[in-house]
Amino acid sequence: MIIKLTHVLSPRRIGILKRKLAQPLAGANLETVKDQILVTGLKAEKTAEVAAFIENIPGVSKVEFEIDELCPLAMRTKGHPLPERPLNFVKNRFIYIAGPCAVENEKNYLASALALKKAGAHALRAALFKPRSSPYTFQGIGFKGLPIILKAKKLTGLPLVTEATDTRQIEKLSGAVDIIQIGARNMRNYELLKEIGRSGKPALLKRAMLSTLGEWLLSAEYLLKYGCKTLILCERGDSTFTSGKTGLNLELMRKAKSASGLPVLTDPSHSSKNRILAERFALEAAASGADGLLIEASVSPETALVDGAQTLGLPAFGALVKKTTKLHG
Ligand code: PEP
Ligand code: MN
Repeated sequence: MIIKLTHVLSPRRIGILKRKLAQPLAGANLETVKDQILVTGLKAEKTAEVAAFIENIPGVSKVEFEIDELCPLAMRTKGHPLPERPLNFVKNRFIYIAGPCAVENEKNYLASALALKKAGAHALRAALFKPRSSPYTFQGIGFKGLPIILKAKKLTGLPLVTEATDTRQIEKLSGAVDIIQIGARNMRNYELLKEIGRSGKPALLKRAMLSTLGEWLLSAEYLLKYGCKTLILCERGDSTFTSGKTGLNLELMRKAKSASGLPVLTDPSHSSKNRILAERFALEAAASGADGLLIEASVSPETALVDGAQTLGLPAFGALVKKTTKLHG
């Protein structure tokens, strides 16, 4: 932690300041360098807690942190092997979570699930609730679709990944699916993060559009602090419904991975908005150190009620799996 001072203070004022800091920073080492006080040896969980108090002390302009001081739990897997359950990142060097944008009907979903499994998917996108920019567009079939995704799991043996958009969905979802997805729009929905954490379910956390590495990892910290044991991150770019923006932030994806040690997937579908570009983004991500993909693919992209243009057909998905398998040996 660095305490930035308003200016270089006299030794007498530094003495007064340090006396005020003695209690909140008990046990820490303080070193004054010009207009800054460097604080080390403070328990990570304590640093964020004392910041507001310190910033109110006359002579202090602001308090700055290193990311690992703010996110001790998100940093804990650094240097550890990736998880083996419910997705086996150790055995499968590159993971595919694939499926249509949304579950729409039983016939198409089951056909897609079986075909995707055969083509190499390790888990199924199984979205029942869709956070849509427009209230007039398809919002997902909701819990009506639960028997469909459970049937798909039974038929394929693949784990299910389902987005929760509201705390009221979590109890039912956590009893049924394998991984709860937090969508980009909800990365900053802290009550949702707490509730998903409390469920103890594995979680997949997308980066919100235009959010920083620090914000993303702080959201990861919420999940871990409240009880999540297995966490996967997913970079999905900054695109929004209206911006027309495309692209993944692969540099940020790599930083998240090396800072935290958590597995990091990329989503080439929502970052590209079209299936040709999605394939290119998928290959770029695979070559840039991603641990896998969350990708929209189905047997019937042309009839999809949502995101059909960016959904890969089965032949393209199969070809992509072959190409990335070559990359990862
Ligand atoms: C999704 O993956 O289904 C989704 C809605 O993506 P995002 O939250 O990244 O927009
Ligand atoms: Mn989609």
